[in-house]
Amino acid sequence: MDLLLDGKCALVTGSSAGIGEAIARTLANEGASVIIHGRNRDRAQKVCADIQAEGGKAVAVIGDLADDAQAEAVVTEASAAFGSVDILINNAGGRDDKASTSWFDLTVRDWADTYNGNVIAAVRMIQAFAPAMRSRGWGRIINISSLGGHSSSGQVAEYAAAKGAMTNMTVGLAKALGKTGVTVNTISPGLVRTAALEHLLRAVARREGFGDDIEAGARWMLDNVMPQSVDRLGQPDDIAFAAAYLASPRSDFVNGANFRIDGGASTSEN
Ligand code: NAP
Repeated sequence: MDLLLDGKCALVTGSSAGIGEAIARTLANEGASVIIHGRNRDRAQKVCADIQAEGGKAVAVIGDLADDAQAEAVVTEASAAFGSVDILINNAGGRDDKASTSWFDLTVRDWADTYNGNVIAAVRMIQAFAPAMRSRGWGRIINISSLGGHSSSGQVAEYAAAKGAMTNMTVGLAKALGKTGVTVNTISPGLVRTAALEHLLRAVARREGFGDDIEAGARWMLDNVMPQSVDRLGQPDDIAFAAAYLASPRSDFVNGANFRIDGGASTSEN
């Protein structure tokens, strides 16, 4: 199937690594021009150079989306890169891995920082790019949430709550942009093997007495915390292929949806 992405331009926030990188590479393979983004210039430029070497169109833009001024600079550079942003993928996010994972040890500052780094980071980009999409009569906004956003485990509560807010925000925005040609959808990944997840799996492995054995940490998570009906960790491409569909004109009839891509970890009731 041709996803009809030739000639479209996509900004994928947090695409210097992990899930965002896979999404950007997939969109570039499908013919879109991509804006690679992150905080670390070397990492972003490396992804950009790889895409260009394979014949794709890519530009790197750097800036911390948790900061108003840096986010504004990202908007200015991204707008100039290919003339417009037709597809916005709000993927940058996560949490400070030095913050506690336990409910009562999280500080109010941790809650505010995680909300800022996920929800407000996305809002900064939406406010900048959605009006022009609406004027042009076509656009795609995809917000990357998490399994935790609709089924919290009791750990990393501030992160789960922020991701839940992203899913909620998506539905409201889809309605606010109704009948304009701009669709807004969420993807909620489960456990996807990236540097961020490996960090967590290593911590779990050490805590459970498996030393630095990440595979044992993953097995323990799948057996004890997040049982799945597909018995493997997700790969970044599992998310990227869904994102490419949602970014495509082929998904015109999908709006305000939440694609849960988690190996069957969540049930249809929640
Ligand atoms: P990752 O491997 O740590 O990559 C994160 C990317 O986002 C990097 O490019 C990073 O840039 C960038 N980034 C993070 N915060 C940023 C900020 N404030 N400003 C600018 N760039 C920022 O993470 P990942 O596992 O791919 O996760 C990507 C998204 O999926 C996150 O929103 C995460 O919450 C969500 N998610 C992941 C999983 C999973 O299992 N991996 C599951 C559910 C949801 P630098 O390289 O410059 O740091």
